[in-house]
Amino acid sequence: MGQIDLINISKSYDKQKSVLDEINLSIEEGEFFVLVGPSGSGKSTLLRMIAGLEDITSGTLKINDKVVNHMPPKDRNLSMVFQNYALYPHLSVEQNILFGLNAKKIDKQEQQKRLTETAATMGLTELLKRKPRELSGGQRQRVALARSVVSEAPLCLMDEPLSNLDAKLRAHMRIEIRRLQKRLGLTMVYVTHDQVEAMTMGDRIMVLNDGKIQQVGKPITLYNEPANLFVASFIGTPK
Ligand code: ADP
Ligand code: MG
Repeated sequence: MGQIDLINISKSYDKQKSVLDEINLSIEEGEFFVLVGPSGSGKSTLLRMIAGLEDITSGTLKINDKVVNHMPPKDRNLSMVFQNYALYPHLSVEQNILFGLNAKKIDKQEQQKRLTETAATMGLTELLKRKPRELSGGQRQRVALARSVVSEAPLCLMDEPLSNLDAKLRAHMRIEIRRLQKRLGLTMVYVTHDQVEAMTMGDRIMVLNDGKIQQVGKPITLYNEPANLFVASFIGTPK
């Protein structure tokens, strides 16, 4: 579960010029797919359209071969991690992690089982009763990831989830996220503007600039055979 097809997807806000221009792309089930590009290139817009948080101006979006252009976010069976983590400040770590499961009416026993497992995996067992303000940036990040994992959604969307962390923690979390994605067999769409993250994490990378696809391919292909100067300079090799 988790194949995504974007067919001729374009997006403009308020009849202005398009911020995404005829995007054609298939993301495979179980793939770690990285969306990379400079600020303002349309990465978040694309991710939010997949999540159902943004209208699609034209084109077709399919998840698991089903057209979902107008399907509400809650029916898409996906989880999303935002850049700012967006934890509820008044809720404990435990309540934050379980928040989405209550809405889905998953029974208490199953919730506790998932909570225990996920907290152990993410190193949060000792922190479950704390409030977000009593956590470090890295700990808050792990809570946001735990909340996403606990949903057991086969499709996970992450928007620059590591951008607020220091370099050492970022390096650590890159490995943790990748390991988690493999273990659970998630389809991951991961947005970043960081070339190192893209090159080290992605099975495939899509380079976006000004709403247009510059190239889609394996990291090694983008590195060795950049399609144009933009990709070459963005990925780091002169052509
Ligand atoms: P990225 O995530 O790559 O930085 P975004 O998808 O956030 O890019 O933005 C792409 C373009 O769309 C930018 O020019 C941005 O200003 C514009 N944009 C984003 N959100 C909105 C909005 N809600 N209304 C109008 N313009 C927007
Ligand atoms: Mg963005």
